[in-house]
Amino acid sequence: MAVNERDVEQIVKQILNQISGSEKLPSSAAGTAAGIPDTAHVAMLTELEKFEIKEFPMPKVGDDDILVKVEGCGVCGTDAHEFKRDPFGLIPVALGHEGTGEIVKMGKNVKKDSAGKDLHLGDKVVTCMIFKDNPDITMYDLNKQNVGDADVYGLLPDDDIHLNGWFSDYILVRGGSTIFNVSDLDLDSRILIEPCAVLIHAVERAKTTGILRFNSRVVVQGCGPIGLICIAVLRTMGIENITAVDGNQTRLDFAKRLGASHTVSFKDFQGIEALSGAVEDSFDGHLADFAFQCTGNPAAHANIYKFIRTGGGLCELGFFVNGGDATINPHFDLCSKEITLVGSWVYTLRDYATTFDFLKRAKGIGLPLAELITHKYPLEEINEALKTNLAMTGLKIAIVNK
Ligand SMILES: [Zn+2]
Repeated sequence: MAVNERDVEQIVKQILNQISGSEKLPSSAAGTAAGIPDTAHVAMLTELEKFEIKEFPMPKVGDDDILVKVEGCGVCGTDAHEFKRDPFGLIPVALGHEGTGEIVKMGKNVKKDSAGKDLHLGDKVVTCMIFKDNPDITMYDLNKQNVGDADVYGLLPDDDIHLNGWFSDYILVRGGSTIFNVSDLDLDSRILIEPCAVLIHAVERAKTTGILRFNSRVVVQGCGPIGLICIAVLRTMGIENITAVDGNQTRLDFAKRLGASHTVSFKDFQGIEALSGAVEDSFDGHLADFAFQCTGNPAAHANIYKFIRTGGGLCELGFFVNGGDATINPHFDLCSKEITLVGSWVYTLRDYATTFDFLKRAKGIGLPLAELITHKYPLEEINEALKTNLAMTGLKIAIVNK
């Protein structure tokens, strides 16, 4: 097989590199790990539903740049959209923004990460956003604006460096990008950082209502990766009254293991009256103080108001892309109940840093977050990985390099 031949060739190159590298003095760069091959491999989306593994010369590492050997990268819903329809018009593009890897070479000006932590060769890192000339997105006021309009690796136009996405074996992190040293997190946790940051942000948004407290009754609607991580974040905050709503029993069972106290399958109930009655029963005759809407289904948005008590709160975060219009009754659903509603989308840089602490605490209290990653594929099988994502048979799909 061609893949195997290429692997052998790469191993030989690496060994030759190691031998010659140990005899030579380090280059002008601040540091270089042994064994960097002459070429890198990038999964390029060259047409709809088709990635090709392309080989490019290893780029020069400038004084502010960092060369990272990629260990793995999660497949995001955004990648699936781009794979299927190219809504961003980026083809040919090196996708993959939920990636992590090890620093193998750094420019001489690189000393610290975006949180002020030291950076060394061998450190494990993730990237967040790339700064543009936007004064509302700043590293110094981390709360200022979410990263929705910023550039990120994995959604950049192709250029003459090509190493722009994490679906690859090497990525060149250029000066001006945010980068975090996450050497104290295991690989699975690091692959989950980006989706978890979405939930850290949503919970921060929810907290601004003043309604979400540690003893709140909370309903989480939708138990895909987003809803499941939402439950885990709430659980690490000490919230114990959590009812998960979904139609898939396997997902509901997993919701319990991630911290839900009760589950309600909407398939067991006919009509919204019966369903909200089931939610009420799960809280011993009370409606929810707060609800998180984690599906992209307009009917689910319309329904969720019925689960919330008068004076309660709602965070809508399911519509990360346009899923169409939802119909609500403003009198019954919002005004007369005095619901406080917040929307949430992506995250801020501050949330990214908070996410690292969440992942450590989730592990510390024994939440099986790593089991969210149901499928791992090597880079060569990236087309399969995307198809599995589109088939929605698993939860989180990841590319993991050998
Ligand atoms: Zn993502």
